[in-house]
Amino acid sequence: MPRQFFVGGNFKMNPASREQKRSLAAILNEATIDSSVEVVVSPPAIYLLPLKEILRKDIKIAAQNCYFKPNGAFTGEISPAMLKDSEIPYVILGHSERRTLFHETSEFIATKTRASLDAGLSVILCVGETLAEREANKTAEVVQSQLKPVVEILKEEDWSKIVVAYEPVWAIGTGKVATSAQAQEAHADIRAFLKSAVSPAVAEQTRIIYGGSVSAKNAKELGSQADVDGFLVGGASLKPEFIDIINVNK
Ligand code: PGA
Repeated sequence: MPRQFFVGGNFKMNPASREQKRSLAAILNEATIDSSVEVVVSPPAIYLLPLKEILRKDIKIAAQNCYFKPNGAFTGEISPAMLKDSEIPYVILGHSERRTLFHETSEFIATKTRASLDAGLSVILCVGETLAEREANKTAEVVQSQLKPVVEILKEEDWSKIVVAYEPVWAIGTGKVATSAQAQEAHADIRAFLKSAVSPAVAEQTRIIYGGSVSAKNAKELGSQADVDGFLVGGASLKPEFIDIINVNK
């Protein structure tokens, strides 16, 4: 079965008001979107349910983070069980902003991935190297070290609920996009790693999406690479341009 093209909008800590949230929903609600694409948008936690209420039903919602416990004394956190109960089907884990600003380790991210799957969520799992790591030719090594704890904690059948987002840190929010050749090479390496570390079937079926300064201008070429199965879009997901990215193959 061909892998379904996936486009995620990572709103990060935006929009800055409920009014802006409504305008974003209106852009999506009024657009004609390619029905063959799985579209998921990820607002801040406070807007998850209000956005779900007003958004068209063919667009899914993702949380940007969660903890691994179901409930308890963990001030400031939300749990996978709460997301599941609120009918939020996806969670983004391991985004580089969380790894860097909030010191999340790959082991911690793996624990949260396990807990999210156990609660019945699907996970958009982000990996990617810094500029220094790329320049030191360590891209594959870094990405594999980020994936390894997840590979160790997951069973083969869990992988149908995982979308891997390759997001080179140097391309996130910088306007500096990976070339299609760089993206294809990193995605092919991830697929090869999944083949040897998990199974050929998982490697074949798992969607590997690209993130980092994706725009309507560069989406076509990036999206046409053999191992690029879609995008995780930050800045451009807050603009009407997001629709053109979703419809890139139309
Ligand atoms: P960007 O962010 O598209 O603004 O570079 C992508 C991301 O962080 O997911």
